[in-house]
Amino acid sequence: MTRRKYVVGNWKMHGVSSDLGEIHSIAAGSASVSNVDTALCLPATLIERAARSVSILPIGGQDVHWADKGAHTGCISAAMLLDAGAKLTIVGHSERREGQHETNEDVRRKAEAALAAGLGVILCIGESLGVREAGQAVGTVQAQLDESLPHAEVSAAAIPGQFAIAYEPIWAIGTGKVASPADIGEMHSALRDRLVAAYGDAGNEIRILYGGSVNASNAAEIFAVDDVDGALVGGASLTAEKFLPIVQAASAA
Ligand code: PEP
Repeated sequence: MTRRKYVVGNWKMHGVSSDLGEIHSIAAGSASVSNVDTALCLPATLIERAARSVSILPIGGQDVHWADKGAHTGCISAAMLLDAGAKLTIVGHSERREGQHETNEDVRRKAEAALAAGLGVILCIGESLGVREAGQAVGTVQAQLDESLPHAEVSAAAIPGQFAIAYEPIWAIGTGKVASPADIGEMHSALRDRLVAAYGDAGNEIRILYGGSVNASNAAEIFAVDDVDGALVGGASLTAEKFLPIVQAASAA
């Protein structure tokens, strides 16, 4: 099955008003690549201004709470993200799983709430270096996926178009280390099996992105791997100069 490539930037805790020009440059450059879907997931403080000023590039959040509203200091609901103009959100990034102690159950509830509200979701999973070195990466990440996946009945119709997985080995995030094409291919194929087991044919339509130190130099090799449908990009998404070559590599793949 052919799936359109999807390249998403994750700005993490980077970006203030003076960076809006960079977001405009990324939007303009991405719009000229017609066969790739792109998006930028920004700090909450920039979402509304970015979304209002760059209608051609979907803007997303980096996390969402599962509740509609309530006593959750510091959190953002799906309705709030939508109200600010966001079209999607990341859930389960390893920096939140580790830093904020988020569990698979938390991630599943967040994904379900976001999909039910009409937001796209990028659900992140990935193994630690210790798990990889112990030879347990595939089984561990498959189990993480199984436990984090939104239940099919929650938003069955939304799942193929609105829902993507990002496989991000924790040891590759922000380190300059990249998983080998063989290891990426093995993992993505194993994850595809789990998606089909969970959702039937719709599981074949869900895009699986790779994340972990993707840049202009390694993107083409990564996009050539079977079952790699795009990338979640951190550091190299902060400037148009670094991000657009990755979008172009996806276009050429
Ligand atoms: C990420 O934040 O999801 C990520 C993959 O970061 P980096 O590209 O910097 O490794």
